[in-house]
Amino acid sequence: MIRTGFALAALIALASCGMLEEGEAEGGITHAALVNAGDNDADWITHGRTYSEQRFSPLQQINAETVGDLGLEWFADMDTARGQEATPLVMDGKLYLTTAWSKVRAFDAASGEPLWDYDPEVPGETAVKACCDVVNRGLATWGDKLFLGTLDGRLIALNRDSGEVEWETVTVDQSQSYTVTGAPRIIDGKVIIGNGGAEFGVRGYVAAYDVADGEELWRFYTVPEGNEDEASPKYLKAAAETWSGDALVGEDAIGGGGTVWDSMAYDPDLDLLYIGVGNGSPWNRAYRSPGEDGTGEGDNLYLSSIVAIRPSSGEYVWHYQTTPGETWDYTATQHIILADMEIDGSERQVLMQAPKNGFFYVIDRATGKFISAEPYVAVNWASGIGEDGRPIENPETRVDKTGKPAIVTPGALGGHNWHPMAYHPGENLVYIPAFEAAMVYAPEANWKPDRARGFNVGFNLGAGDLPPDLGIRREVVGTLKGKLVAWDPVSQEAKWTVDHPGPWNGGLLATGGGLVFQGTAGSEFNAYSAATGDKVWSFGAQTGVVAPPITYTVDGEQYVAVLAGWGGAYAITVDGGLLNDLAPVRNISRLLVFKLGGEAELPPEPELAALPLDPPPSRAAKQTIALGAEKYARYCAVCHAPAAVGSTVLPDLRRSGTLGNKQSWMAVVSDGILKDNGMVSFAESLSPEEIEAVRAYVIHRANEDKAMEPDPAT
Ligand code: CA
Repeated sequence: MIRTGFALAALIALASCGMLEEGEAEGGITHAALVNAGDNDADWITHGRTYSEQRFSPLQQINAETVGDLGLEWFADMDTARGQEATPLVMDGKLYLTTAWSKVRAFDAASGEPLWDYDPEVPGETAVKACCDVVNRGLATWGDKLFLGTLDGRLIALNRDSGEVEWETVTVDQSQSYTVTGAPRIIDGKVIIGNGGAEFGVRGYVAAYDVADGEELWRFYTVPEGNEDEASPKYLKAAAETWSGDALVGEDAIGGGGTVWDSMAYDPDLDLLYIGVGNGSPWNRAYRSPGEDGTGEGDNLYLSSIVAIRPSSGEYVWHYQTTPGETWDYTATQHIILADMEIDGSERQVLMQAPKNGFFYVIDRATGKFISAEPYVAVNWASGIGEDGRPIENPETRVDKTGKPAIVTPGALGGHNWHPMAYHPGENLVYIPAFEAAMVYAPEANWKPDRARGFNVGFNLGAGDLPPDLGIRREVVGTLKGKLVAWDPVSQEAKWTVDHPGPWNGGLLATGGGLVFQGTAGSEFNAYSAATGDKVWSFGAQTGVVAPPITYTVDGEQYVAVLAGWGGAYAITVDGGLLNDLAPVRNISRLLVFKLGGEAELPPEPELAALPLDPPPSRAAKQTIALGAEKYARYCAVCHAPAAVGSTVLPDLRRSGTLGNKQSWMAVVSDGILKDNGMVSFAESLSPEEIEAVRAYVIHRANEDKAMEPDPAT
């Protein structure tokens, strides 16, 4: 009897499996649910809420009239203290999110009751492969599963109810410096995920995996391998024509870059997947694609491009390159938004992006044809974009292997980075979390790639270090600006702008309640009028907020949620004590959830005590300190901040207890005794003399900065 029952149940299960159409999910989220996510006001089931990635919710219970009653309903502290960049997903009254170190947590979305946690146990030493902190930007869902990309390059399917692993697969060559920080997208039963690592000599691609078992279905490389032949895909042969020299091939091959580390969007009617492609590896085109005279030539497709792909097959359809021959780390991996609007009297299907290069682009998403572009921040590398869609470049800003350095704006952090924008269809405005931070690009004459460790960019990154003068430092840091720009994509101009005290503010959410929500580097979480930019509500978050908010309903009540916690590329490379007019910003990683009438309170804000600087005396020879400075800039600055000024997120080496002890310093830097914290051995890349020179340099810098500290007695 029992056996019959079991057999019958198995038969029914088989039958229902057999009835599934291709691409349909068994229970839970289906292709139709994702295509129609815009009609589902209650939930937030894909990264940008819909495939068009507008981050607009029609919910309007919280609006200009009621927002005064918005209060904290519940919060949850995270168990990591690194950058938090994730967009939560919500469905069936449950909220799912990722945190730093690719961990996943599930909560009851109304009460905050924790449901389950999952830790993929990313090895600590993976941190050294990450350009921009050990962040993760979110999940995807299909059927009854959640999908997660981990920092060490795995794609993992979890059971949504239990958090248990259903399958996992490795998506990258883990012997190279690939990382995964982006949120997957799912199209018709295929999980799409890219990767990062263009600062470390990798070759970028995006790939699709079967939701059922993780089998790789297709892989789309964004840059040529350098040895294309007749059998190579046509689009890669075409790309190879735009590269010169043989830097892509052989022992010292430079990878080429073009990583797809964040943005994607999908148009179900056109059946096109749009991907944003990153910068070149190395940054300096003269080393990547030297040309006849060695100063660099070629567009280097498909760097800094938006590429349209057929999601079923991975077939190339069209591309638009924002920065031909990019050399400034001008990725086009920034958020892509799809919308329909009237331009010059006709209804257009457009794709919009504000890539790092400072121009806001409107492109025809059916054809890839350029429509218009204007600068949304100060720009000096190009005077404009011509009618043919190519930039009108300022030759003074291109630096090759030798010659004068150039101060270029935007710098490598861009005019806009990964922080999501939002689009309000009623206002026809795009809200851009923008900033202004110029950068010094200085040539490095005899640069050689080192794919084992360190930044592979082909510029001297120490050239822009500020002198040990508090006045000059404050002045330069004061030129760094952050703003919220409400951009009209038809007239290509700002309708309104909110100035923030500093750069690196949070991603955005626009709502049918006429509001725009944004967290700030200044530890606030704010609501603004979508029409005017007037600040209508503010909450003290105790920590810098960089992640984008979402909104959802449970039992008819509207909630707004945001993951707070300072970190990411800018946060780990900026002097924590000199954030413009801001107090030092610290990381308190915490999910904040609000609703009308919410009355929860955060615990008191802890004191942030900076230890006084107490370095050993600086006695090393000038040449030793200079050698240390050079090696520090290439191998250490990416995590421990340029000029060793320290941040509030990662250890400040000027205050390191090992500074005064050659053996302890060597044990950390050469033997890698702290590798589980992310501090691996650099013995492959640095000789013992060079490691000792780095110690001498940090001691020298600590003494310079100690001399600048105000006398505690006064
Ligand atoms: Ca980059």
